[in-house]
Amino acid sequence: MQEFDTVIGLEVHVQLNTNSKIFCSCSTKFENPANSNICPVCCGYPGVLPVFNKQALLLAIRVALALNCKINKKIYFERKNYFYPDLPKNYQISQYKMPLGEGGALSLPTEKTIGITRVHLEEDAGKLIHKENYSLVDLNRTGTPLLEIVSNPDITSPQDAFDYLSSLKLILQYIGASECNMEKGSLRCDANISLKNKGASTLGVKVELKNMNTFKGVRDALEYEVTRQSKTLDEGGKIFQETRLWDADRQKTEVMRSKEEAHDYRYFPEPDLLDFFVEEEFIENEKQFVKELPQDRHKRFLSQYKLQALDVDVLISEKFLADYFEEAVKEFNEPKKICNFIIGPFLEQVNAFPDRFQSVKLSAKNFSKIVKYFSNGLLNNLTAKKVLVLCISNNSDIDEIIKNEGLSQVSGEAELSGLVLEAIKESPKAVKEYTEGKSQAIMFLVGAVMKKTKGKANPKVVKELLEKTLKR
Ligand SMILES: [Zn+2]
Repeated sequence: MQEFDTVIGLEVHVQLNTNSKIFCSCSTKFENPANSNICPVCCGYPGVLPVFNKQALLLAIRVALALNCKINKKIYFERKNYFYPDLPKNYQISQYKMPLGEGGALSLPTEKTIGITRVHLEEDAGKLIHKENYSLVDLNRTGTPLLEIVSNPDITSPQDAFDYLSSLKLILQYIGASECNMEKGSLRCDANISLKNKGASTLGVKVELKNMNTFKGVRDALEYEVTRQSKTLDEGGKIFQETRLWDADRQKTEVMRSKEEAHDYRYFPEPDLLDFFVEEEFIENEKQFVKELPQDRHKRFLSQYKLQALDVDVLISEKFLADYFEEAVKEFNEPKKICNFIIGPFLEQVNAFPDRFQSVKLSAKNFSKIVKYFSNGLLNNLTAKKVLVLCISNNSDIDEIIKNEGLSQVSGEAELSGLVLEAIKESPKAVKEYTEGKSQAIMFLVGAVMKKTKGKANPKVVKELLEKTLKR
């Protein structure tokens, strides 16, 4: 068996979070009815003129900054010419000679750094919907601002590729540049992979992989290719330069087209858009959004709040959670308790909503009140969860819910002692077991009292009362 080094490069396309398209004022909401967000500009009618969307530029600058790229202040667009039924103009406005950002870097959680070759702006194409005997064209997506992010071939394993994508996605979400939803197509990824003899400087033949719809799919496809290519090379076979499609159902890649030579896209300067220089103040202004990236926040959470790394992983994994946590801690300075309640009952509720965080109306301030009441004993495990369920999607007043639903915890000895005696009387078997030394039997009696109070008793007080009563 020969030993090989794996060389992977990733090309990621993300849709930028703008309200309108990159060169016209059509909406970018492409879930609207087919061909309803279109105009002569994005449909490529003759004689129309594109107008560059400033917001797209600002978001692209933000991404370039977050990826530590050198920014080319001269904004210069070219036409990339090719024919495809979803491209009504027969060319795509893109950046070739002078990408917006170059020479960046992204560090992985493993501390490894992956170079970023380039970050450039371009417009998206439309969508083809293939039916049995015919195909439909939906141009709603045509002209959506895209950012293409190309990595250096620094990625040396399928797992690194997975980590790279996860880190990139988190950064783009944190800085508000893109939703990065691979299922909805707002993040798409192609991969290049080749193998070379271990330690050799000459690169092997590159295979391009397409059609991966999840990060896991990217990792699986790359793993499949590592196995396929090393087996072929081991047996003295040849790797061909080609594009292969990942088939997730069959877990294998298949040849889509062979690629003897590079495409000639006949790039030339876009004559309808003047080139211009970005003013320094625009770049300066975007810096505020990239001050603290996810990995920096992770480090700060560990040192500032003294939480477990695994818990911080969860909080940081969604910007919403990290923000919510920090806001709640401002109100009730018990980071560990807030964190536990977010990772536990809160996320459980969120995950039950189809659109997750969008359904959360409960303010972090109100949320912190539930945790506070839970921690001072006014609410117990059950009632705290109940209050959360009642207000998470409407932000109702916590005190009112507790009052109206009669949820405040019963901790008074006077209120509970009668029920404790009742439970003892009703469960002679558990009492006998307990007095004979089986200490766990007391939990049955605690449960019985909890039931009598409809879950409102303070289980700790009940247990103490039972122990006290049974000792006599
Ligand atoms: Zn339009």
